[in-house]
Amino acid sequence: MCQKLINTYPHCQRMEDRLKIACGVFAAINYENQPVFPYIYWGLRAQNHRGHQSHGFLTYNNGEFHVHRSLDLVPKIKTSAIQEWFGRLPGHVGIGNVRYTTSGKIDEKSLIEGTQPVTASKRGLKLAVSFNGNVVNTFQIKKEIGTKFPRFSYECDADLICYKLMIELLRGNDLTRAVEKCMLEVDGAFSVAGLTQDGEFFAFKDPHGIRPLCAGHSEDGKTYAFSSETVGLDINGFERDFELDPGELVRVSKNGFERQKLVEGKKKAFCAFEFAYFARPDSRFDDRYVYEMREEFGRNLVRENPEIVKNADIVLSIPETGDDPAMGVHEGSGLRWERASRRHRYVTERAFLLLARERQSTIDRKINILGSKIIGKRVIVTEDSIVRGDTTKVIIEKLRRMGAKKVYMFVTFPRIVGPCLYGIDMATYGQLIGSKHDPEEIAKIIGADAVCYQSMEGLVRATGFKKDELCMACVTGQYPTPMAQKIADTTKKRFLEGYEETGRLYEIEEAIQNV
Ligand code: SF4
Repeated sequence: MCQKLINTYPHCQRMEDRLKIACGVFAAINYENQPVFPYIYWGLRAQNHRGHQSHGFLTYNNGEFHVHRSLDLVPKIKTSAIQEWFGRLPGHVGIGNVRYTTSGKIDEKSLIEGTQPVTASKRGLKLAVSFNGNVVNTFQIKKEIGTKFPRFSYECDADLICYKLMIELLRGNDLTRAVEKCMLEVDGAFSVAGLTQDGEFFAFKDPHGIRPLCAGHSEDGKTYAFSSETVGLDINGFERDFELDPGELVRVSKNGFERQKLVEGKKKAFCAFEFAYFARPDSRFDDRYVYEMREEFGRNLVRENPEIVKNADIVLSIPETGDDPAMGVHEGSGLRWERASRRHRYVTERAFLLLARERQSTIDRKINILGSKIIGKRVIVTEDSIVRGDTTKVIIEKLRRMGAKKVYMFVTFPRIVGPCLYGIDMATYGQLIGSKHDPEEIAKIIGADAVCYQSMEGLVRATGFKKDELCMACVTGQYPTPMAQKIADTTKKRFLEGYEETGRLYEIEEAIQNV
C-alpha cells in the first residue's frame, strides 16, 4: 500500500476559517433603453458574500460586449467616477459575477484570467456567460472543446460552459438545443446567465438545480433580472417572480419571462448547505427567509438535546451565521442568549489570506469575547458547521481562557463526511474532520464538552423542502450526479488507503482516469 502524507493539498494549507462558494450571478435587461449597469452593480454588491476574489461586469451595446473585470470585492464607486463607469459599460442588457475560485489555478494571473463573465466567439457567433457552480467532468468537456478550439485555455468552469455552448451553436444547433446538450453532457452544478451576439438574454440551471438562481422584475415592468439570491433583487427594489426549475431555460422578452423545461433531472438536488451557511439570512427560498429556517434549526437542536439544554446556563453564537440559530435556542429553551461574542467588522475574510502559521492568531483576532459574561458559565455555542475544526477549536480555547466552565457546540449542519464537488471550497476528504472522526472524537479534538449536530431530518423539516429535493451529498455520500458519485467513491477508497490528495478531487487526473 502506498503510504503517503495525507492532505498536502496547497489549498488546504491556506484554507480560511470560513468556507467559500464559487460564485454569485446577477444579470438584467431593460426595455426602455436605460443603462443596466447600476442594477448589476448593486446586484453584485448585495451578493459579494458569494465570492470576493474577483468581480466582473459585461454589458451589450450595438452588437459589442463591453467588459470590466477585476480582482477583489466589488468596489465602491466615487461620485466623480460614475460617468466614467457608465461610459465604460453602456447598454440596456448585461451580466455580472462575483467569484471565489473552486476550479482552475489560484495565482494572481490565473485569478485575473478566470474572472467572469467569460466570452467565446467564432464565425460571427458570440457568447458571454456568468456562472455559479462547478463542472465535475472537466477533463471530458475540455477534451471536446480542444478539438474545435486547439488553443483553448481553461481558467475557470465558466469557460467550459461557454465553449460547450459555442461548440453546439457552431454545429448548427439553436440556443435551446445548445443549452439542452450542455444540460445533458455536463456533469455538475451550473446556474448560468448569458448573452448572445444579438443581445439575446437567457438563463438556465443544471437538471438537478443544485445552485440557486431566481428571476424577478422591476415595479414598472420594464426591467427583468436574474440573481443567485433574492437579496440581489431586493437591493434593486425588484419583485421576485420564481426560482428557476432544474433543467429549465428562461428567455426574456418585452412580454416577460418565457420558461422552457428542457431536461427532466432524475432528482432535484438543491444544496442544503445554502440554508445553513452560504445564503444571506435575508434571502428567500420558496417564500421562506433563510433566517427563519436557521431559527428553527436552533429550536430543533434544543428538542434533540434536552439533557444538555437542562445543564446549560447561556447560549452564545459565533457571529453571524450562528446568530439566528442562537435565537432559536433561546426561544426553544428559555436560556439567555448572551451576545458576548462580537466580530471585528473590518477584520475581513481577506485578512485570513496570511501564512498558515498565522491562521490561528488571525482567527483569534477576528472574534472578540466579552469575558465577564461567561466566567463560570456552562455555555451552548451555536455554529453553522464544522469543516476542519480549526476555527471552532480556537474559539473554544478562547472561551476556556475567559473562564467558561463547560462548552457545548450546537452545530446546525449535520456532520460533513465527504467533499463537495458542486462549487463549495471543500474538495478533499483530508481537510474534513468529520471524514475521519465521530462527534465524540471531534469534541475531544476541538476541546468541547460535547458536539451536537442537528439531525438531517430536523434540518430538512425546517427548510420546508422535501428530503429528495435537496443535495446533502457531503453528509450522506450520495451524490446526485453520476460522475461525482464515481469520483467521490474512488477517491474515498484511495484516501482510506493512504493516498495523497494532491488537489481538488475533480481535478486529479489520475483519480478521474480510474473512474
Ligand atoms: S455536497 Fe454539500 S455543499 Fe455540496 S452541493 Fe451538496 S449539500 Fe451543498
